[in-house]
Amino acid sequence: MGTTTLIKSGVVVCGDEAGTVITDGAVFVDGNRIVDVGDTVGVTDRHPAPDRVLDASGKIVAPGFVSSHNHLAFVLFRGMAEDVGATPTPTMFLPMRALISTEERIVFARLGAVELLRGGVTTILAMEEDAAAIAPVIVECGMRARVALMTNDVEVSSLMQGKTMFDPDLTQHALRQSEEFIGRWPGFTSERVSAMIGANMILSCSETLLRGLGDIAYRHGVGVTCHVGLGAYEVELSHALYGKGPFELLRDIGFFESGCVAAHCHHVTDNDLAILRKAGATVAHCPVLNALRGAAAPVRRMIDEGVPVALGLDNYFSDYFDAMRMFISVARMRERDATLFRARDAFRAATLDAARALRMDDQIGSIEIGKKADIQLVDVARLGVVPVVDPVAALVYHAHAGDVSTVLIDGVAVMLDGCVMQVDEHAALADAQRLGALAWRRFAVRYPEKLDTLRWTPDSIPNLPETVRST
Ligand SMILES: [Zn+2]
Repeated sequence: MGTTTLIKSGVVVCGDEAGTVITDGAVFVDGNRIVDVGDTVGVTDRHPAPDRVLDASGKIVAPGFVSSHNHLAFVLFRGMAEDVGATPTPTMFLPMRALISTEERIVFARLGAVELLRGGVTTILAMEEDAAAIAPVIVECGMRARVALMTNDVEVSSLMQGKTMFDPDLTQHALRQSEEFIGRWPGFTSERVSAMIGANMILSCSETLLRGLGDIAYRHGVGVTCHVGLGAYEVELSHALYGKGPFELLRDIGFFESGCVAAHCHHVTDNDLAILRKAGATVAHCPVLNALRGAAAPVRRMIDEGVPVALGLDNYFSDYFDAMRMFISVARMRERDATLFRARDAFRAATLDAARALRMDDQIGSIEIGKKADIQLVDVARLGVVPVVDPVAALVYHAHAGDVSTVLIDGVAVMLDGCVMQVDEHAALADAQRLGALAWRRFAVRYPEKLDTLRWTPDSIPNLPETVRST
């Protein structure tokens, strides 16, 4: 027996296949596992002497969210990349990459992780430029993750001139780093964090790199993830370089062989969807970010064609409740159909379906006996949420990250009654503000010609107080 926790008197939204909701419910946790779920009277009778009791009155007890696509360290681009068009990778992400240190990425990633935990996100697929440094940060925060090194081998200077040229030295370096990362993380210090293979996108990854990454994933039996289906420019580039579309290229070089989480896919043909379906790939659908880029993935068509869709948050943003709402609103706008999807479809995409994309649905994604105790308590007795009649609709349409009060991962309280337990979040905030301002000042010195587009100057960075309020 490990430490036991009784969560009682809450509305338990199990998130299981049957969509079970228990109005006056309880969950009993032993160590890192859920061992009992039911009505409060019954569960309390069966487990009369728990080590700890969490009173969930006025709260919804739900499975922790799973986000199938994130870049933790990219909180750096918050407030800077939202207005620069659909493709900030060549103009902003890759140029900045050379200007920030590993230590700075760790600070941004820590802030990104804490924010997600605060909002009930317990598992992520993190695609990071410095994965070997950021995986330990995820462990430190108590979070669960699949972490992928976000590789590329393009010459940034060529991209800045509107060309695409690859550097063979970078190719070999990226393959070596990926192989090392995979080798280190399957059995590292925490079973919660493990590695997979990541390629940024066709724009920044050569065929040699993509082929090599697919091979590493196959040999190690891990999945791959990449950005794909990003727009007409990606299709044009792929045809110019390889004489075929991006999905055909990835299929033909074996990149999909080990199972793929394909991020975005808002620019897809029926043939592309057929390729994804046959490959057993899942789409990581990120409606919040894509909407800002003027794009909406054809989620209805994907599901109809048999392509699984998982929800993801992606960059800059940390409120996963917003992503659930936008899963529905963006799809309805795209199809001009106000009846398309229901709250439970978005909730499922943010929990069980996303867990399945990460091949973890046998362990997480729902509150069921035998699963890992990744659980959030959401305070719904709040302005803007009451009256709560349908608990799932209340969560999806009206709750916010700030309504989450307690979060357990592996049975451990990473946030308890609004207090983050594992990390000094005030330090994380202050460090990120200070280092973020410094990074953008360096960017301004290195790329002064970009400031006109950004409509921003280094002098306009505000001075925030050292102690920043988190709530
Ligand atoms: Zn991304």
